[in-house]
Amino acid sequence: SETVLGFRINAYHSIEHAVQDIINNHLEQGHMAIAMNPEKVIASIEDKGLEQTLNDADILYADGVGVTKVLSRKLAQKVARIPGCELWEALMKTAGAKKLPVFILGGSDAVNQETCSKLKAQYDVVIAGAHNGYFDDEQAIIRNMIESGAQIVTVALGSPKQELLIKKAKAAGCNAFFMGVGGTYDVFTG
Ligand code: UDP
Repeated sequence: SETVLGFRINAYHSIEHAVQDIINNHLEQGHMAIAMNPEKVIASIEDKGLEQTLNDADILYADGVGVTKVLSRKLAQKVARIPGCELWEALMKTAGAKKLPVFILGGSDAVNQETCSKLKAQYDVVIAGAHNGYFDDEQAIIRNMIESGAQIVTVALGSPKQELLIKKAKAAGCNAFFMGVGGTYDVFTG
């Protein structure tokens, strides 16, 4: 990894490299991955909450050509741009192959259910639990998440909602690997 404007970014030479790092080094620790792009770098100058969230991330992956260019120049090696939705799908594929249980949180009820069915059909993913992103009892969702035994939890609530929920889940003792995924389920179910 290398710093870009004060943020420590993980340099990956491919999406597969990022997935392998997650599987080998970030499971069972309550770690969280966040996409880094020039918009977030700029926004974090004025938004201290965002700056804190980015600094709290255990993986900051480069999802923007500006970030990958600075990074590859500093490290003198190829650094791939990792779009969040592609990293998520590659991670789901590997989770299916390795039978790592997954919790799918967020999206509308229809999108959430369709995401789960498609993940099972396409990648043989073990769905430990799932819930749409429109709920009142956050603590109940988090308890559900912990009791499900999921090793990977992906959260689509939009930012910063998803990052805040991940922080609370981690504080409540969930040691899954977390990824905030924004509109990824909507794209996946098309
Ligand atoms: N979403 C949700 N609950 C909410 C707000 C949003 O489940 O309270 C879902 C929404 O259905 C969509 C996803 O979050 O699937 C991403 O929302 P949005 O595009 O607003 O977030 P962004 O990707 O722009 O951060």
